[in-house]
This record gives sequence, structure tokens and C-alpha cells, in this order.
Amino acid sequence: MIQAMQETTHSQVVQVALKVPFAAHLDYSLNHDLTAPPIGGRVLVPLGKNKQLVGVVVGLVAESEFKTLKPIIAVLDTEPLLNATTLQLLRLAAKYYQVSFGEMIFTALPAWFRKTNNRPIPIHYWWQVVADLEVAQTALKVAPKQLEVFEYLMLHGPLQSKAMSHISSTAAQICRQLQDKALITSTEVCFVETDQAFDPGFKLTADQDRALKQIQKSKDQFEVHLLDGITGSGKTEIYIRLINELLEKQQQALVLVPEIGLTPQLFQEISQRINGQMAILHSGLSDGARARVWHHAARGLVDVVVSTRSGIFTPFKNLGSILVDEEHDLSYKQQEGIRYSARDLAVLRAKIEQVPVILGSATPSFETLNHANNGRYQWLKLRSRTNHNPMPSLRLQNTQSKQLVKGLTQQTLSTIESHLADGHQVLVFLNRRGWSQKLICHECGWVAECDDCDAYLTYHKHLDLLKCHHCERRYSLPEFCPSCGSQAVETMGAGTEKIAAGLMEQFAETAVVRFDRDSVKTPAQWQKNLETVRSGKPCVIVGTQMLSKGHDFPLLSLVVVVNVDNSFFSADFRATEYLAQLLVQVSGRAGRAKTKGEVIIQTQFPEHEFFQSLFQENYESFAQQQLTERAEMRFPPYTYMAIVRGQFRDERLLDQFLQQLADGLEQNQDISVLGPLPAPMQKRQKLFRMQLILNSNDRKGLHQTLHLLKTQKTVENKHHIQWFVDIDPVSLD
Ligand code: ADP
Ligand code: ZN
Ligand code: ZN
Repeated sequence: MIQAMQETTHSQVVQVALKVPFAAHLDYSLNHDLTAPPIGGRVLVPLGKNKQLVGVVVGLVAESEFKTLKPIIAVLDTEPLLNATTLQLLRLAAKYYQVSFGEMIFTALPAWFRKTNNRPIPIHYWWQVVADLEVAQTALKVAPKQLEVFEYLMLHGPLQSKAMSHISSTAAQICRQLQDKALITSTEVCFVETDQAFDPGFKLTADQDRALKQIQKSKDQFEVHLLDGITGSGKTEIYIRLINELLEKQQQALVLVPEIGLTPQLFQEISQRINGQMAILHSGLSDGARARVWHHAARGLVDVVVSTRSGIFTPFKNLGSILVDEEHDLSYKQQEGIRYSARDLAVLRAKIEQVPVILGSATPSFETLNHANNGRYQWLKLRSRTNHNPMPSLRLQNTQSKQLVKGLTQQTLSTIESHLADGHQVLVFLNRRGWSQKLICHECGWVAECDDCDAYLTYHKHLDLLKCHHCERRYSLPEFCPSCGSQAVETMGAGTEKIAAGLMEQFAETAVVRFDRDSVKTPAQWQKNLETVRSGKPCVIVGTQMLSKGHDFPLLSLVVVVNVDNSFFSADFRATEYLAQLLVQVSGRAGRAKTKGEVIIQTQFPEHEFFQSLFQENYESFAQQQLTERAEMRFPPYTYMAIVRGQFRDERLLDQFLQQLADGLEQNQDISVLGPLPAPMQKRQKLFRMQLILNSNDRKGLHQTLHLLKTQKTVENKHHIQWFVDIDPVSLD
């Protein structure tokens, strides 16, 4: 590549990667009136009869195998947008995930850079607090709206004023007023410049010290460290110390978190402790703001980027390490478009850049544990909490033949009552929003289902409607059973709506706060709920998955988990792995503060060996046991899997199409092909869904075969069946 760059003045052929599936790059000529574009910079090129596309230059050469080349229309960047290592990452990722180089590049590029013009990136100011709350409270006694904006910024900053429009339609103006009063300040990019690192002054625990020393050994070279530490064992402290060491060497750090909601928390924890410039990057930011973070990271103007999945593609000037927090989290796997895993790409990137990568989790994924088992990853264990609090105690609550009061047993209710009476907070966790699980007829067994999806409908009481959670289609509630005409139609099972209603009846004096997609739709609602919780008064929090991740509720002493039994009937061999991770993570929310925590799991199967092996021992031994089974059954992580997923309105044609693909695949002896099979959810939004599951001991062979499959032209596809390959799928559905 360096050679090619030196040749720029002589080479006339520009290799351009475009967002098209059929070629890694296309060749274009360069007219004499244009200066040669840099490799990694963007150009505007013609395609077909009258299309103009933005492309990225991936090579400059003297000759092309094609005789006539179309000329480049315009050069959009005079400096590379993507540096050599980022291009290398994207090239290898494209190969691995079976897409074209251009498709991969355009998945990585922030939307701003995909546009055909090259206007300068607009400046949006970011506001951040610079005064203490008490100072602000005194100064803003007669300006409650300004105080509200100040407080919001204190919790969530730095923010653009448009992110506060739900507080005030004149947030921008209010921010300028606060700035005039020297209570807040603005920056042009999404970062905080800190120069007052705070030192909590604690000594590392023995575990922390050992882990840190191990990581330090691999300075400036590639090594994967699994930081396997229970909740509260001080993983974040290790991240912070590592980042500080990087900053001393003028190196940058990339910190990945699984979801947007967790970025402010980690951002603030780190920013208080370092002298440097930090930026947040996620899909909630404006196009311009994301482009600016790229721009700054590539020029070395920001030291730490805290980002969700897509941040793995950010170009850095001098990257020193990548930290992946909650590495087991499924959010790292993109589930639409190119199905890449940001965690896996973090490892690949660290290898390209020759830097250490840290994968942190209290419940490492089986993939990662397998690498730790065979010594490819350094396994660093943190097994005690820094505050020496005992782990919460656990109780399985048998629900079989028990009378449930809106989803909870009498015993669960009295335990909740005693925790509330002690002045503590309680979390009831379940992964089902709405009122009920389903609507059934007691006479004939009819169950209400969505017409467009293979799914039961959920009753939502406040709407008095049935809703499909997969396509959001709504249905009115039938008065009679549509199948037998009986009136014995009733809801069954409990969702968050019902549980919350039941708790409100039981504990009329206590606040019940619900966190799910129906009740928390805006940041303001999040905020309002959080304030109730943070007030410190006893309350019951009812929530879905939204709450299972990192969010810290220090006053929780009891966690109740409801409705997890479905996992025992799942067709997915990973269901128990995910359930174990969920239960351990949710349990970890209890008793982080002074009080000893308690966890209750309501289940119909308290005798299930799953619970025995997870809770009588621990996550690690549970995982080892399950890994042995996976090895015997020849499943990942001991084999390599890919799923060819198709969807189409006509089931028969879809089946035929996948059968043709399967016939082609079966010629390779090393690959076992299962299917065509209906997907676990056979129909979604009127489209039938089928799949081929490919499993092989040989990753290379599998990928080569898939490559052939994608490029073979003989398969009949005239009905425009939608299909794609999912490499290393994390779910069978
Ligand atoms: P994790 O990320 O593993 O859940 P944290 O890093 O958040 O754990 O640490 C939990 C708490 O312990 C934090 O409040 C942190 O400030 C504190 N802490 C971390 N390391 C130490 C230490 N060595 N001594 C005392 N407190 C510590
Ligand atoms: Zn009926
Ligand atoms: Zn539906």
C-alpha cells in the first residue's frame, strides 16, 4: 500500500470500493485536472447509466484489466478518511462476513460521510456542567427551568441542546443563559476535557493487582485478556488504571459498551478519573456529531472514545488498547444488515494494531471461555467484591399448584413486604411487557395469534387491545371465542403491566416504577423513573431486559425473577447459557451497597438440574459443565456455525430455493447441513422464514464453501427471495 501511495503521481487507475455487492472494487480513471485522491479518501464516481455514488479509494495502480474506464467525477477528501489499519480491518471483516469490501466500508462509515457532497462537518455545541449543584441551586433560585436543565446536564452531560428539547423547547437559549452565569460550558465536539482527575486513593485488591500486572506485561503487543470478575469486583477500576497508563504514553483507548443507555455511566466514571479528552459515540447522536468524533479520533485529538457496537470501526491515530465491557452481551452482534460481532472484530482489530484487548464480564460467553480454557486468551479472575459484601442469597420459589396474586406467590409478596419495611428497594424482573402472556379460550383451547406472524398476542390493559410484539399490529379484544363462540375467553400469565398493577394494590403506600418499552419511551420518562429510584425511598421497580444490564441501583436488596421457564423448552442450544448469564447479572444488582442481598426465582421447576449446577456451584463451573456437553454434541464453540436465512411470501418457493442451495452445499463432506427448516418463528410480518443450519469442524472450509454459494449464479432466484448468510449466529431464530 505504501508503494502504491508513492506511485500516485504516475498511476492513472483508481480502485474504488462502492456500496455494491458484486465487486470488492471498481476501476476508474483520473483526469489530468484532478489531483490524485489518497488511499482511504472518498471520491464521487459514475455507476451505470446515470448514477453517481460515493466510493472509497482502496488502491492506486498503473494499469487495469479493463480497457475503457470511466473517469472520477470529484475527489471529496484530500486526506485519508480511513487509515491503513482501519482499511485492513474492514477488508478482513468483509471477507469473514461474506460481503463486499464496499458494503463493509459503508456499514462502518458514519452517515455524514456517505453523502455525495463534502460540506464541512457542522458544529453543534455540547454543553457540560462546570459548577457544583449547590452553587447552581443558589444562583438559580428564581429560575426553575434553568435549574432543571442544569440538573439534567449534571446527570447526563455532555449533551447537545436538542437532546434536552423534552425539558424545554428553548433548551438552546437556556444553555446560553447558564453559560453566561458560568455554570456550564460548551465544546465543539462531544467530549469532556478533564484536567482534574480525582484519585479515590484506594489500594487495589490482590485480584485486581494480579490482573493489572498481567495486562501490563503485554504492553504494545497483541494479547487477549479475559477480565472475568463478579459484579462489584472492580473491573472498571482496572479499565481506568489502564487508560491512565495509555494516556501517559500519548496512546488512545476505545471502550465498547453494549448499549446506548450505558454510555453516560461509564463515560462519567472514567472521565472523573483521567486527565484527557473523552468522546461518546453511538447511533443516538446527530450525523455531524458522529463524523466529528471520527475526525478527532483519527487526528489524535481525543484520548478515549466510549462507544456502542459501531464504534469498533473508528479510525484512531495511535490506538493503545480496546476494552470491551460486558463482552458476553448479545448486543455486540449486529442483527440487521451485515451481521458482524463487534466483540470479535475488537479481537481482530487488536491483532492488526498489535495492541492488547480486554474482554470484561461477570458472565463470560462460552466462546470466550473456550479460548481461555485452551490458553489463547489470558484468564484473569476477580472473585471477591471490593467492599467484601457477601453475594446475595438465593431462593427458588416453586409456583406449581400455587395460587398466584397477579403473577407473584404469597411468599414472594411477603418477602417483598419485609424488604420494603426495612427501608430497602426491590426489583421484580421479567421479560414480558404488557398485561398477559396470551389470551385463551377455556372451552376449546383457542389462543389468540397474530395473522401476520407466528406469535401469540399480548393483552395491554391500558389500551384494552391485543398487540403483536413482533410487528406491533393491534387487534381488538374478542367478546366471544372466534372458534367456538364461548365467552370463557381469558388472559393467561403475567406481564410487567399486570405485575405492576398487582404490586400497586398490595403496597398502596409504596412507589411502583415500571421500566419497559411501553412505559419508558423518552429520555424524560427514564429520568423521571430514575429520580424516584434515586430518591432512596423504598420502592418496587418492575422491569424487563432494559434493566438487566449494568445500571446501578445501589439501594436494591431484593431481586425477584419471574417467568424464565420458557428457556427450558427452547430449541436453541444456547438458551441455558443465556438464561444463566441473565440470572447471574440480574442477581448481581442486589446488595451492591451495605445490605446483604436476596434473590428469589419463581419457577415451576425448582428441581431442574440447571438451577442446581448454576447456584450450588457458580457460573464458572456451570459453564465448564455445559462446555463439556457442547464438545460432545459437536456444537459451537467447538464447531463453526453459519445460518443461511431466507424469507419470502411463498413458503413453497422459499423451500425449493433453499433446497437448491442445500444440494450445492452437501457436496462438501466436512459440512453438516440441516434444513431447509422453518425458523423457530415461522412467519413474521406476512413473510415465511426458513433456514439452513451449517455446522463444521473446519472454519476455513465452511467459509470457502459459503463464498462459492454466494457467488454461484446457477441457483434460480427469479422470485427475489430475500436471503443472506449469518456467520457465527448468536440465535437460531
Ligand atoms: P465492577 O465493574 O466489577 O462491577 P466496579 O469497578 O464498579 O466493579 O467496582 C465496584 C465498586 O468498588 C466501585 O464503587 C469502585 O469505586 C470500588 N472499588 C474498585 N476497586 C476498589 C478497591 N481496590 N478498593 C476499594 N474500592 C474499590
Ligand atoms: Zn373456544
Ligand atoms: Zn405480528
